[in-house]
Parts: sequence; structure tokens; C-alpha cells
Amino acid sequence: MGDIEVPESHPRYQSLLTRHRIEAGVEKGITSKQGLIAEGRGEAFDYLLGERTLDSADEAERAAAAHLLLARHPVVSVNGNVAALCPAELVELADAVGADLEVNLFNRTEERVRAIADHLREHGAGEVKGLTADERVPGLDHERAKVDADGIHDADVVLVPLEDGDRAEALGRMGKTELVVDLNPLSRSPRTAAVPIVDNVIRAIPNITRYARDLRDAPREELEAIVEAFDREAALADAERAIREGGD
Ligand code: ATP
Ligand code: MG
Repeated sequence: MGDIEVPESHPRYQSLLTRHRIEAGVEKGITSKQGLIAEGRGEAFDYLLGERTLDSADEAERAAAAHLLLARHPVVSVNGNVAALCPAELVELADAVGADLEVNLFNRTEERVRAIADHLREHGAGEVKGLTADERVPGLDHERAKVDADGIHDADVVLVPLEDGDRAEALGRMGKTELVVDLNPLSRSPRTAAVPIVDNVIRAIPNITRYARDLRDAPREELEAIVEAFDREAALADAERAIREGGD
């Protein structure tokens, strides 16, 4: 990001960089205006967390990697905010675990789906799903329900960074294992997830990839043990405690 004039020593360097990426995403037509509001909410929580990955989030990231490696058909769902924030990192994660990338938007327009798919391809993606939209998630209104039959609809494990609460619940009702990245531990989306990851996507995605690479050759029993040992309630409670009380 050589195009912004914020010295790296600036105490808010990372959040200013993030904000700039979202702004550039809006200009490029990949992030919605609603995405600016979501960014603001995220920044507030990240500030309270000390802009770092909690140990409990790190464990959730490891459990997410194990789920993705065990999956029959993992899919990484991509919206306008994550596409703007960490496109290359999403492509790397999908490669590391053999997942599909599918554009899945709350405020869906064909134009924006196409712009995000192009943006991901500019960052190294091969096939990007989400344009066919030939299936529906039951229990959601038409536009919000659109998914690809051979993508999210068929997936057993879905990583949904910054998903809306209604859609997270609807995917859960379809029996999918949901891995949700969301900085707000009180939001419905992480609360419905098998693995709630309360961390900034810009830290969470590369860390899941790192664990996936570490665990790539691990036996299934080891991956299953990691999944089994993960405690979603404890992870949510720890994030809430860190936000309310600060400290480790
Ligand atoms: P609720 O789930 O309580 O109904 P919402 O999901 O409708 O609220 P949004 O503003 O759409 O509210 O949600 C955006 C969510 O994404 C917020 O919880 C915010 O903390 C989170 N978020 C924003 N930016 C990031 C980021 N970079 N990394 C992780 N989470 C983020
Ligand atoms: Mg939410």
C-alpha cells in the first residue's frame, strides 16, 4: 500500500491502512457503502481487543484449519469487505485447503459479484464461484439466498468472514459447519458458528492458512481431535471478557 501517506510508526497504522483499503474497495465497486459502516463497527471492537489475536482466537483459527482440511467440500465465502481487505490471503487459504472461493453478497448486484471475482483473479484466484447462482438457501428472501449449486449449496464446511446473522443461521439450518470470522462476539453470526473466530480478518485468514500448512500432513485422527477439543462457548466468553476487561 504505497499509495497512502501514513508512517508505519503511526500508532493507528494498521487500522488506517485497513480503512484505506475499504475506501479503495468502494471506489473500485467491490465494497458496498454498507461495508463502510461494517468497517467502522469492526474497528471499534478491534480497538478494544488491542488489535491483536487473542490466544482463544488463535485456537479457533487452528480448529478452523482442521475443519477445512477434514471437509469433503470446503468453501470460502467472499464479500465486498474481505475482498477489499485481503484478496491474496483468501486465495492462498483456498489453495492451502483445496477450497472453492465463492462470492456471496448481502447487497447483491451482478456487477459487484463480477467485480469481486475479477479482483480475486487479479490476486491469483483460478475459478471463482457465485455468478451462476442456480440454487437458494432456504428461509431467506430471493436476492440474499442466491448461491451456486456446486459451491456453497453443496459445501459441508463454509468459512464465512463477516456474515450477516440471518444468513449465518440459515446456513446452519442447512446442516453446514460454519466457521465465522467476526470481531463482535455478541453478534448473531459468530454465535451460530461451529467455530467463532473473534479476530480481524486481516490477521485471521493468514493465520488459518499457516495452521493449514502445518497440519496438511497430519492424520485425520489428529485433525478430529483438534476439532473435538475446541470449545466454542469458551472462545466467545473469552473474547467478550477481553473486550470488557482488557488484558490477556
Ligand atoms: P448483528 O449481527 O448484531 O445483527 P450485523 O452483522 O447486521 O449485526 P454489520 O455491521 O453488518 O452488523 O456486521 C458487520 C460485522 O463485521 C460487525 O460485527 C463487525 O464487528 C464485523 N467486522 C467488520 N470489519 C471486520 C474485520 N475486518 N474483521 C472481522 N470482523 C469485522
Ligand atoms: Mg453480525
